Amino acid sequence: MTLKITWFGTACFIVHFDDVNILFDPFFIRNEEAHPSIKTKPENLDFLDAIFITHAHFDHITEAGWFAENFNVPVYCSKTTKKNIIKWVNGEIIEDYSHKFSERAENNIHIINNSNSIQVSDNVYVNPIESCHIKFDANTILSRLFSWKFIKKLRTVSAYGRGFPLGKVFGYNIKYNNHNIVTFGSLCTENLEVLEKYVNCDVLLIPYAGNSKKHLTEKTLKLVELLNPKVLIPHHWDDFFPPISRTEDLSPLLKTMERNFPEINVKILSFEEKQEINS
Ligand SMILES: [Zn+2]
Repeated sequence: MTLKITWFGTACFIVHFDDVNILFDPFFIRNEEAHPSIKTKPENLDFLDAIFITHAHFDHITEAGWFAENFNVPVYCSKTTKKNIIKWVNGEIIEDYSHKFSERAENNIHIINNSNSIQVSDNVYVNPIESCHIKFDANTILSRLFSWKFIKKLRTVSAYGRGFPLGKVFGYNIKYNNHNIVTFGSLCTENLEVLEKYVNCDVLLIPYAGNSKKHLTEKTLKLVELLNPKVLIPHHWDDFFPPISRTEDLSPLLKTMERNFPEINVKILSFEEKQEINS
C-alpha cells in the first residue's frame, strides 16, 4: 500500500490517498515560541474532503470551524468537541480569536459515536475507535508547574485549560481497500480489547507526549505489541505550545523498538513535508 502523510506537528496531519485527503485534529495557531514554527495556513488547504477530531482539547480543534465555514468541509467529532469549536469561533474562550460562523458551517460539523462508519469516498471509510485521554503523571505536571515561564503565562494557559473540556475521546481506523491505518490523538492504554480487530494493521500513528520518558515508551510499546503494525509513526512530540509542551526525546523509543521489534519500520515524519509511507 502506498499512501502519503503531511504532518503539521501535534496530532495534526493529512492522510493523502490518490484523490482523497483527510485532515486530523486541525491545529495551526502555534504560539511564537513553538518549535518548529508553522508556515502552512488553513487558506493553503483548499483540497480537503473531511476532517476528523480525536478530542476536544485546544491543540486538536482550533481551525475546524474555519474549514467548515470557508471551504465547506465536513467535520466529524464528539458532542463536546462541537460545543468547544463553536465557543472558540465565537470568541468566548479568548477574545483575540473569532471569525464568522454561519448556520451552514455549524451544520457541517457532525456529531459521531463509536458505532458510526463514515464513508469519505468509494473506497475510503473512517471508523471511530473508543479511546481515552492520557493521565498526566506527577513528574510531568510538577516539571511544568515549577517552570518560571509557566507561571508568567498562567493566565492564558488557564483560559485554554478551562475553555476546552474533554468529552469523548476517539481513535480512528481508516480503511482503504483492504488496508488499515490506526491513529490516536492521546496515548490511551485502557480498553485494549476494542483494538483486537485492528491487529496487524498497516500503519499505526501514536501521540508521543504527556508523560515521563519512561512511561511514554512503555505505553507506546504496549500498543505496538498488541497491534503489531508494519509501520509505526510517533507524532505530537514537537514543542507546539511552550511552556505547556516540550520537544520529546524519541531516542528511548527508537532504541527499544530496534531491540524488541526490529521488523517494524519506525517512521519519523519531517514537519510540513508530504511523505510517502510504504507498508
Ligand atoms: Zn488532549
